[in-house]
Amino acid sequence: MILEKERADLIRYSNKMAHAGLTRGTGGNISILNHSKGLVAITPSAVDFEELKLEDIAILKLDGTQVDGNYVPSSETNMHLLCYKKREDIGAVVHTHSLYSIIAACLYEEIPPVHYLIGFAKGPVRCIPYFPFGSLELAEAASEGIEDRNAVLLGNHGLLTVGTDIRHAFSVAEIIEYVAEIHYKTSLKGSPHILDDDDMAEVYHRFDAYRKSERR
Ligand code: 13P
Ligand code: ZN
Repeated sequence: MILEKERADLIRYSNKMAHAGLTRGTGGNISILNHSKGLVAITPSAVDFEELKLEDIAILKLDGTQVDGNYVPSSETNMHLLCYKKREDIGAVVHTHSLYSIIAACLYEEIPPVHYLIGFAKGPVRCIPYFPFGSLELAEAASEGIEDRNAVLLGNHGLLTVGTDIRHAFSVAEIIEYVAEIHYKTSLKGSPHILDDDDMAEVYHRFDAYRKSERR
């Protein structure tokens, strides 16, 4: 079976996304790019994550042609494919309907550096305007939003994150939702202190060392 590991990872991570409360129902979708084969594995459209079997995962060429899978690919396939076109360094894309990210996306508020973990996104998380789900306009605006960031809010819709691999892209989605919750709750209590560019430069420096120590 082609891309068997990627298919298994998609089943594991889409269930993780649902169990972590990062989405509701069949909302959200995940893809993984196999760079050497030039193929993308993506969750199918409108199928319960708990029901997913390996043969249900859609396998696509980078031009969108489906080469395998029992179901049609996610309605947000264009959004995923344009992200891979925009960012050659990434290997996975995660789209969630996470509550606190959606609250920010409905208020058209960016998520600021209220906690150093915003560094997972590589900067404040901006919000793009509303476009209908599955539309090419949404795909284009979202892929522009991740050009220099690992996360972008989709107006009146949700969150999109990217990473070098699925573990990374999923952590960005998990952590950015957490920072969105921190921003929402601290703003209810008062005016949270926002970290400045110098603070964040120091965070990125420390992240590098942190990642290196992780590999030992
Ligand atoms: P799919 O089930 O087609 O992946 O769509 C869910 C979604 O989140 C649309 O934005
Ligand atoms: Zn969605």
